[in-house]
Amino acid sequence: MASQTKDVAAPAHLARIVKDPAAFVRPPHLADPAAERARFRWDDARAWLDGLPGGGGLNIAHEAVDRHLGHGRGGRTAIRWIGKSGGRRDLSYADLAAASSRFANALASLGLGAGDGVFVLMGRLPELHVAMLGALKARAVVTPLFSAFGPEPIATRCEMGDARLIVTTPELYARKLRALRERLPRLAHVVLVGEAPPALLDEPGVHAWAALVESQPAQWTIPPTPPDAPSLLHFTSGTTGRPKGAQHVHEAVLAHAMTGRYALDLHDDDVYWCTADPGWVTGTSYGVIAPLVSGVTSIVVEAEFDAATWYDVLERERVSVWYTAPTAIRMMMRLGTEPLAGRDLSALRFMASVGEPLNPEAVVWGQQAFGLPFHDNWWQTETGGIMIANVPALDIKPGSMGQPLPGVTAAVVQRDADGHVHRLGPGVDGELALKAPWPSMMRGYLHEEARYAKCFVDGWYLSGDLARCDEDGYFWFVGRADDVIKSAGHLIGPFEVESALIEHPAVAEAGVIGIPDPTVGEVVKAFVALKPGFEASEALERELLGHARKRLGAAVAPKSIAFRGNLPKTRSGKIMRRLLKARELGLPEGDLSTLESDDKQ
Ligand code: ATP
Ligand code: MG
Repeated sequence: MASQTKDVAAPAHLARIVKDPAAFVRPPHLADPAAERARFRWDDARAWLDGLPGGGGLNIAHEAVDRHLGHGRGGRTAIRWIGKSGGRRDLSYADLAAASSRFANALASLGLGAGDGVFVLMGRLPELHVAMLGALKARAVVTPLFSAFGPEPIATRCEMGDARLIVTTPELYARKLRALRERLPRLAHVVLVGEAPPALLDEPGVHAWAALVESQPAQWTIPPTPPDAPSLLHFTSGTTGRPKGAQHVHEAVLAHAMTGRYALDLHDDDVYWCTADPGWVTGTSYGVIAPLVSGVTSIVVEAEFDAATWYDVLERERVSVWYTAPTAIRMMMRLGTEPLAGRDLSALRFMASVGEPLNPEAVVWGQQAFGLPFHDNWWQTETGGIMIANVPALDIKPGSMGQPLPGVTAAVVQRDADGHVHRLGPGVDGELALKAPWPSMMRGYLHEEARYAKCFVDGWYLSGDLARCDEDGYFWFVGRADDVIKSAGHLIGPFEVESALIEHPAVAEAGVIGIPDPTVGEVVKAFVALKPGFEASEALERELLGHARKRLGAAVAPKSIAFRGNLPKTRSGKIMRRLLKARELGLPEGDLSTLESDDKQ
């Protein structure tokens, strides 16, 4: 399908952001993206890493932690934890190496090791890093869960992933897990982090972290780890339906190393902050693994989003590289730039975003608020790491996801009647596909072999997202295949409609769906949350409809707008358009296990 709006000029303030190499605070690792794309081989990333001693293979935890000790970097702060109530803890790479080895020994003392399911259910605490890395050292298979999950999503995921041990807090255990123990006979061990009431510790298989882990030896020899040994099991966000379990392997660390260096431009003296929850793949790949592989100091903030707290962290910790998500950016935009007045954010040199399309308005707001644009990048739970990115040296076209990274071949494709895949030319919308394989590619959907097989056609991985590539090789997100709206012969991506609405000063957030219509197939309907100081009214609806028509043309603009206090979102902050639609049409709401904020009116 051809883009409907490319002939409608974007407002001048959303024009291309030109990068001036002379203005970089430091030269980026990826100075010439096109040349490096032509030159790079994944073996280059292998050469940046050490591999296990004695040719024992490739283990994520070794590359993330122990390797640095051998290079004299054991004293560098790996994690700076900032607690909810003001507590702080620094862990050096040497501390993290010792603590994770203790955890690996603890698993071994319980008879757990290669292939066993180790789940982590807690907020952002340093023990989360320790448990994940320790489990990887023991070659267990790690699954992080959102701590805000209710008992049912926890139980189904533990059952599906054959959880043998779970690390959690006494409070979460008592509130959510305890009643599930009978239903989960394979879950033999529960490890409680923090002060636990003695009665809990009397229950079968329940251990206190301090007693079980801290008394263990700090030495651990990582068993041989073939690159295709299972490492992590990640459940997808559930934006489009029931979450899938994506199975990953240790070789993924090549992609973490490459993307840490090229997409996030991490240098080992950086102070880096990834705001993602560990229950989501970003919180693992870029909250735990990639920053440690890159040798940076990683800031871990326990508290949930609050603009003032976040700005304090950026300023006080002198964060230099910041990785966040569109929902958080839009929440900051709601408050304007005033809360930033007088702050010293001079250390900040690179800001990136992932998880949802980043509206052009949000990219540019970064410049107004922080003096730097947000750099959007694209990937999925299934891809294990960033695949398409706005890298520092590349001019930004606001609204574009950027270009494929070195080692990644991306294309916009279409399937023909025989099911074969064909590449489409510039400017044409189709399915976003990646040439398989790459090191961090998922190696299976848990218990869903047929579904996994269906993702691969003619050597391409089909992402389920629709995109277009322009003449300059920039990729533009159109929508998820399931969310695209078919109206009067046009195919409309919700993202461009949402972005146009967000340009209006009253609009904080927008979600767009198609409503069945006997004449045109589907008509476009928008759900809008307003910024503080604006009231929902018929006059405002008319004004927004007029604004959208002017920006998008009558064929693409919404026909009606409903105002909402909040849009339904997943816990990883993605707007759940399928839920807006189900509610609008009175259809079953489907799997809501990952639903976070909600406003049904
Ligand atoms: P599910 O597969 O369960 O429906 P999900 O696709 O939201 O959930 P994730 O793997 O967390 O689960 O998210 C990946 C998806 O998020 C991508 O396929 C894409 O639709 C969207 N996404 C991620 N980054 C971007 C981006 N920069 N621009 C546009 N969309 C993005
Ligand atoms: Mg998905």
